[in-house]
Amino acid sequence: MNLHRRVAARSQPVAIEIRVRGRVQGVGFRPTVWRYARELGLVGEVLNDSDGVLVRVGGDQAAVATFVHRLEREPPPLARIEHVETTAYSGALPDEFCVTESAGGAAHTQVAPDAAICSACAQEIVDRLARRYRHAFANCTHCGPRLSIVQAIPYDRANTTMAPFFMCEACNGEYRDPSDRRFHAEAISCRECGPKTMLVRLDGGASDLEQHSMRDDVDVACDLIQNGEIVAIKGLGGYHLACDATNADTVANLRRLKRRDAKPFALMARDIDVIRRYCTINAEEERQVASLQAPIMLLRAAGPESLPEAVAPGLVTLGFMLPMTPIHVLILRRVDRPLVMTSGNLSDEPQVITNADARARLAGIATYALVHDREIANRIDDSVVRVMDGRPRVLRRARGFAPTPIRLPNGFAASPDLLAMGGQLKTTFCLIKDGDAILSQHQGDLEDSATYDDYCKNLALYRELFDHTPIALVADRHPEYLASKLARDRARIEALSLIETQHHHAHVAACMVDNAYPLAAPAVLGIVLDGLGWGEDGTIWGGEFLLADYRSYERLATFKPVPMLGGAQAAREPWRNLYAHLMAEIGWPAFAMNFSQLEVHGYLAGKPRALLDAMVKSRISAPLASSCGRLFDAVAAALNLCRERQAYEGEAAARLEALVDEETLRYESDSLGYPLTTPNLRGSGLPYVEPLAMWNAILGDLILRTPAAIMSARFHKGLAKAVVAMTKKLARQHDMSTPRFTTVALSGGCFQNCILFEEVSRRLKLEGFNVLSHAQVPANDGGLALGQAAIGAAHLIDINNNREGPDYVPGNSWTDRDHR
Ligand SMILES: [Zn+2]
Ligand SMILES: [Zn+2]
Repeated sequence: MNLHRRVAARSQPVAIEIRVRGRVQGVGFRPTVWRYARELGLVGEVLNDSDGVLVRVGGDQAAVATFVHRLEREPPPLARIEHVETTAYSGALPDEFCVTESAGGAAHTQVAPDAAICSACAQEIVDRLARRYRHAFANCTHCGPRLSIVQAIPYDRANTTMAPFFMCEACNGEYRDPSDRRFHAEAISCRECGPKTMLVRLDGGASDLEQHSMRDDVDVACDLIQNGEIVAIKGLGGYHLACDATNADTVANLRRLKRRDAKPFALMARDIDVIRRYCTINAEEERQVASLQAPIMLLRAAGPESLPEAVAPGLVTLGFMLPMTPIHVLILRRVDRPLVMTSGNLSDEPQVITNADARARLAGIATYALVHDREIANRIDDSVVRVMDGRPRVLRRARGFAPTPIRLPNGFAASPDLLAMGGQLKTTFCLIKDGDAILSQHQGDLEDSATYDDYCKNLALYRELFDHTPIALVADRHPEYLASKLARDRARIEALSLIETQHHHAHVAACMVDNAYPLAAPAVLGIVLDGLGWGEDGTIWGGEFLLADYRSYERLATFKPVPMLGGAQAAREPWRNLYAHLMAEIGWPAFAMNFSQLEVHGYLAGKPRALLDAMVKSRISAPLASSCGRLFDAVAAALNLCRERQAYEGEAAARLEALVDEETLRYESDSLGYPLTTPNLRGSGLPYVEPLAMWNAILGDLILRTPAAIMSARFHKGLAKAVVAMTKKLARQHDMSTPRFTTVALSGGCFQNCILFEEVSRRLKLEGFNVLSHAQVPANDGGLALGQAAIGAAHLIDINNNREGPDYVPGNSWTDRDHR
């Protein structure tokens, strides 16, 4: 702030022009500017133009400096300033400070994410004297819907699903008044002119709602929930199914009707005091749960009260969020217990967003629905955040976060615009536009046809919203991923370049971007502990040590490859991985001889072993996989956790983690932990983490009837120690004095396991490594597209910079396979 220092000395009238870039339109920026200028007695004007916001301001030098300072330090909550530039201004200024109509031309605006209701609006709707008392759609420039209602750019009311609602005179007055916090709030409305809620029966039964005629629909919905009903509620980015979380029968009923066997239900509480009755919550977690993003926070269940087991079977974490819309505020204010607030869908389908779909698809689950007549333009799931190692980590990035751009690290500014298509599960896609990465909201698993259709629809929407014309597509090299097939088709039809990336390389790149790791910086060791990804050698990878930069990678080490018996079935049925591991390590004769007294021996003896062994021999339906996720499954199966079948991806690992409490971790001192061994790197072939000794120790502990909590702690510790031991060996592989790498990037879904992540991270830091980990984007495949985009950008930047490299020809294809 040179200006600030310079002007403090002598106060003379000055005039300057301030250019502000970033997300500064449609977020209350101009009224904030207006208010600051008036408070400081300055004259001038503020306007939106195609580059952002332009301010011309004149007055006392010190006041002008204070003005600039305040603008930078205290922008409105939804604004995101990327760049401020001040120049002297010599033109004429108006006599007072005013908001000038936008300068012509199509405004290039950033679409903001949806934001939770602000405290001012939340107070208004419960204030009997306020004009918006009990208005279920109150919002202002600081809060409310954005991405979920936008259909086209620029972000004007006419381009949102608020278009059919004609503003009343009072609202129009606020909309035009720069001193009002609803100045140019595109979704402004009141009880007179806004959308209306309606409580309807979904089962076609006769309406019995008359008995409640003295109350409004929102209150009746609340009564029904408290009386044990399941009610579908139309939220911001989709329908939820709500019920009383303390009512075990209703929760069990919801689980059965929704056909959701075990996946935990999200919860909503009126305030943090209610959450505290069921969970421990620290200051950082409080900040996150109460943020404008209002995510589902994963918290450790503990406290004076507990919820029925069916809320989160086998887990010790609960996912809590606070009311994020006026509807939720009005419902929750009358309930002092938590409500289940789970996505309104059947099994793995996408969340319902239309009233017609709610009738068609939710009628079998909920008898009543609280609907309204504002359409949801874009489906957006609830985001999930967990604080690990002291920092908030986004585990599912959707409502509140998308589509906030992620700044690409130094070196990427020259990237051409491109589109990365993501993976198969927990898919997102990612645009690169003007040097920023725009990661879509969580789309889901593309194997579900409705999700795939929605994914295609969103690709088109983002292209429109961000006025995006990619010159290249980036996709996972997997031959069967639907997103990759689509990329190949589109590249051919539209004559675009196609860049194919290796799954785990993209994971490492995503982690590097997440940490602003520069393009030109030295290679890192990427440790990717994951489910499954397409390898380079005809096998499946998923426990990888890759020396990588954005351009290429070298596979330095892996986990021991073990057959996946039955292919995809092995990902659903943990016992298959247990059998495969035991056969690969010990073999049936030795297992039967030494461990026949174990219950697990009897269990495995009952399986069709001849068939399984034939699969292993022939390699048919038994591809080799070096997957850390499958190792977790195998260990969980040994401990009899969802051994026969897991109800959702990662259930076995989550339940294994849930067994361990802090006391056990402390009790199991650092010297303990199952022995997974790492080889002497002088040998030939790809080195791998060898779990043989671990299996003998696990089977031994089973014979000793060691408590499962201790066994699980030993597994997590042993695994973390082996990962760190391998890292140390790889760093000094060629030269004891100069390490091959000093930075390690941790990625892959297994690092959403808090114990594993914190143990690996802590031990690596103790060994002096610089550790990169995920925070803004998920460590699982939800972050994959960001890494793909960065790898694609690095390729295209190289090609543009270096004419000696392969000529850039549209329609050509490259891969990151060409190792250093
Ligand atoms: Zn508000
Ligand atoms: Zn109105």
